[in-house]
Amino acid sequence: MTTAILGGGLTGLTLARLLHERGTDVIVFEAEPDYGGLCRSISEKGFTFDTGGSHIIFSRDAEVLAFMRRMITGNEQRNNRNTKILYKGQFVKYPFENGLSDLPPDDRFFCINEFVRAQIAFETGSALHPENFREWIYYTFGKGIAECYMVPYNEKIWKYPADRMSLHWVEGRIPRPPIEDVIKSAVGIPTEGYTHQAVFSYPIHNGIESLIRAIAAPVEDRIRTGFSVRSLQKSKNRWLIRSRTEAVVADRCISTLPVQHLLSCIDNVPKAVQEACDSLIYNSLICVTLGISGPVPGFSWVYIPEASTGRTSRISFPSNYSPCAAPQGCSSVLAEITHRPGDEVSFMTDAELIGQVARTLEKMAIVKKSQIIYSRVHRQPFAYVVYDLDYQKNIRIIKEFCASVGIPLVGRFAQFEYLNMDGCIRSAMDFVSNLEKDTKAS
Ligand SMILES: Cc1cc2nc3c(=O)[nH]c(=O)nc-3n(C[C@H](O)[C@H](O)[C@H](O)COP(=O)(O)OP(=O)(O)OC[C@H]3O[C@@H](n4cnc5c(N)ncnc54)[C@H](O)[C@@H]3O)c2cc1C
Repeated sequence: MTTAILGGGLTGLTLARLLHERGTDVIVFEAEPDYGGLCRSISEKGFTFDTGGSHIIFSRDAEVLAFMRRMITGNEQRNNRNTKILYKGQFVKYPFENGLSDLPPDDRFFCINEFVRAQIAFETGSALHPENFREWIYYTFGKGIAECYMVPYNEKIWKYPADRMSLHWVEGRIPRPPIEDVIKSAVGIPTEGYTHQAVFSYPIHNGIESLIRAIAAPVEDRIRTGFSVRSLQKSKNRWLIRSRTEAVVADRCISTLPVQHLLSCIDNVPKAVQEACDSLIYNSLICVTLGISGPVPGFSWVYIPEASTGRTSRISFPSNYSPCAAPQGCSSVLAEITHRPGDEVSFMTDAELIGQVARTLEKMAIVKKSQIIYSRVHRQPFAYVVYDLDYQKNIRIIKEFCASVGIPLVGRFAQFEYLNMDGCIRSAMDFVSNLEKDTKAS
């Protein structure tokens, strides 16, 4: 019984490892020359960068967190988060609602006053129930935090109007802050938000890819890189999996590919399913990685909501995650720019992007252009799922179709859900244990 796993990112590799541990013969098909997907890293001239955006290891899921930390045993750096939001030229503590005392007095008053009004409306039941993400932000945080940070930041990263986004995903992911914490933060008593992430892990050597390599180690010889799946056909209960030049047969097929890629491999996809798939919205990502001569501020990462500071939505400082991420006397910056596939940003040259980020950094007084001694741009076509108002309807149609043809979907762009690494590993673990239960039952 051979199980084919389509896609060699974190999800595919975790599935392969877990199935292999249970005695299943697996084979992973990965299109790129290297496996790892969004969790790849590159080391050049003494600098190490994650090429799919800055990654840190954290989770509320104790089992998954223990798994990830076990994978990087002996190579783990524990860090206290020191994250900021750039607001009117000042660095405000993150999360914004825990950093209100860093705001200019008028803005601090606006945020706290409106937060209290929203809280009263919530508690007395007089607030209108939110119907979209924008309304939910106002309902949860009040007009002040909404307009100073939440709406501009979210619209910058999602590249989509917040009032046309669904809110089904925010519960649990963006918690309603306790009123005591918000008031404390406004009067300058330190509080922490998102505490499950306040201390995070990062590999000392080789970036986030070292996590992937450790997961893949027992199945390394079962990974076929450079195999771009082009066609999937089922005949007599077996799958015929084809690339442009090869065909392989497997008994079972699990997809971790973006659903858009998966459907393009299947013949006779019904029109309604194809239309649902074409309607799904996602963002691509450009990572501008810079090696810096000299130090950078001791921040973990900085969110940049304001459009006037440039296209970058977040900059992180890998050399602050691990001392081995940059040569002695140097430091590093990773700037993330989200964009829609095929938009004007897609056509910007690497030099233009590097120039823009350098100007942003100078404007923020973080580094001078003359300090940049290394630069490279990485592009990821699939980076973020965008939950528009039709998302739930469309994804249901696609998932029902894939279930009907017998291809389970596991992973960030296969399930088409905003899953972090922990969510992908959880999905893989749950998939494998359900499979085990089904096998025992039959
Ligand atoms: C900017 C950014 C920052 C992030 N930061 C964090 C973080 O700090 N912490 C965290 O926990 N998570 C983070 N994540 C999320 C994390 O990267 C993902 O959850 C995870 O990498 C998804 O893994 P995956 O295997 O599901 O998908 P992918 O990594 O996308 O893997 C899919 C694989 O399928 C391959 N493929 C595609 N088409 C084909 C084909 N036709 N044939 C064969 N192979 C194909 C691709 O090449 C790829 O390798 C971040 C994500 C982004 C975008």
